[in-house]
Order: sequence, then C-alpha cells, then structure tokens
Amino acid sequence: MLINTMTKKRTSVSAKKKATAKKKTSKSTAKPKPKRKTPTAKKPKRTGYSQIVLLGTGNPGPDPDKCGPSLAIVVNDVPYIVDFGPGVVRRAAAAVKLGVTGLAPNRLTRAFLTHLHSDHTTGYPDLIFTPWVCGRDEPLQVYGPKGLAHMTDHILAAYEADIDQRLNGLEPANDQGYQVDVKEIKPGLCYEDENVEVHAFAVSHGSWPCYGYKFICPDRTIVISGDTCLNKNVAKHAKGCDVLIHEVCSGMGLMHRSPEWQQYHSNYHTLGFELGELASKAKPGLLVLVHQLLQGVSEADLLREVRSSYSGAVVSGKDLDIL
Ligand SMILES: [Zn+2]
Ligand SMILES: [Zn+2]
Repeated sequence: MLINTMTKKRTSVSAKKKATAKKKTSKSTAKPKPKRKTPTAKKPKRTGYSQIVLLGTGNPGPDPDKCGPSLAIVVNDVPYIVDFGPGVVRRAAAAVKLGVTGLAPNRLTRAFLTHLHSDHTTGYPDLIFTPWVCGRDEPLQVYGPKGLAHMTDHILAAYEADIDQRLNGLEPANDQGYQVDVKEIKPGLCYEDENVEVHAFAVSHGSWPCYGYKFICPDRTIVISGDTCLNKNVAKHAKGCDVLIHEVCSGMGLMHRSPEWQQYHSNYHTLGFELGELASKAKPGLLVLVHQLLQGVSEADLLREVRSSYSGAVVSGKDLDIL
C-alpha cells in the first residue's frame, strides 16, 4: 500500500523497555500466496467528501492572528495534516468547536511535511505529545523529506523525561500514542487508504528536499505547494485541480526590502504576479493564498498583484477558514 518510502518506527529509549515487555509478535504468519495474474484488479471507488481547514496561514514572524503553516484535509472525518507550524493542535481544537469533529486531538494520526524549516515544524512536539496525553493510542504516522527521521529521534530524546514520567508514573497513559512511524519519502505516490491518494512532488526552496502534495479525495483534487519559488512542477501537478493552496510573497512589497532579502525571497518564494501566471496555466477551480509574506503591503494589494496576471477565483486564506 505504501510506495516510495523508507520506514522505521521511532520511540524513546526509556520507553523501549516497556514497549519490549508489551511487544506483540509482529512476525508474519501468513502463508505465501500463490502467484497469479490479476490484470483486471480495480481499486475500490472512494466515496465521501472532503473539508480543507487552514490551521495556520502565517510565516516565521509571530503574528498573534496567524499560527504557523499547517492545514488539514479531512475526509470522512479522518484528518490528514500537512505541516505542523506552531499552534497546530490548538487550532485543530478550535476547528472542532466549529464543527470539524475529525480534528479532535486523539484523531490526529497522519501528517505530511513539506520541508524541515522551523516555521513548519516547531509544532511537531505538540503534534506528537499533546494528542497522546489526550488519549491517542496509536503511533503518529508522518511522511516527509530526508532528515525527518533525524529530527523525530531528537525530539523524542529531548522529551524522554516526560515520556518516562507519563509511562511509569501514576498517570494512565498508553504506550503507543507518543510513538512516531516516520516515512522518508521520494516523489511519487506516498500514501493511500480508503479516503485519499497522496502524491508528493519536488518543489524548489533551497538546496534540500522540499515537497508539494497532491491529495486525490473522493470529491475533489487538492494541491498544496509547500514553500517554493515559481516551480513548473506545481503547475504540472495542479493542472485542472479543484483547489490549489499556494504560498506567496508580495513582489511589490519586496521592492522596499534590502537587496539581500530581495535575493532570498525571489529565489525561495513565489511572487504574487508569478503565482498569477502559474495559476493562469494550471487553471485550478480555486486558488487559495497561504503563508502570505506581505512585505509591508496589504492583503488587498497582494490579491491585486495575483489578479494582475490571473482572472480565476482566488481567496487569501485565514486561520480556521474551512473550504
Ligand atoms: Zn520554508
Ligand atoms: Zn515557511
């Protein structure tokens, strides 16, 4: 079922003792199946509907109205988190109050990371531990670029004392929910289940692996750019999609920044008028701006910039927008 992945379950050293004691036999007892051709085997048709919840539309600056980059695609009440910037679990809890019951903390079991930048990952310990304390009783599955396993191991090591106290003190705690099943992925189909098919594709945001994701849901196709400069791969994967969720930086605002910042942003992020050109080619049903780097201009100015080269539907996303 899982393709293009390297997998290893992450757990803390202290917990390994307990986990070993309770370890279930995972050896396969299945008899080898006889080989036979099944050329007509068809995938089951997925049914249901999806919700997109913008959990955080911010960027590294601590804007109190915007949490760090994170969103959830919820299909048939099952959440799939993309990126985990600061505030991810609290925003998910806020979405529950808005009626998105699939984002209850103990249901946060699957996440996809676009890249390892801190604004996208400082909510990672929150996503590992808070749902566990709230009763999640299965490991968190996380998919992302090379380096994710290393980061995960160090987070678990940093919280070893907490894990030990919860597991071995009086607190009723299960021994599964803090564990992380990490899969470092390559471009291609990286995940599928009865609700979604998820494809990762390479984007360009510095000299390290960064991904965008395409979610094929029962009712629509959703493409997420991750952080990237203008990238043909995004246009290719977003061609004709229903919703394109894309990062953006104001080119107009950037003119007032120092040459060093101009060079950085124009090489690592997508400028508003560039995004408009990309969207004109990809023709998504709806373009959603997130991770808006306004550079001192207003949101209306940024939208004008995008619309200068794009006449389709576009909205500037806000935290807790449900689409
Ligand atoms: Zn980044
Ligand atoms: Zn970022």
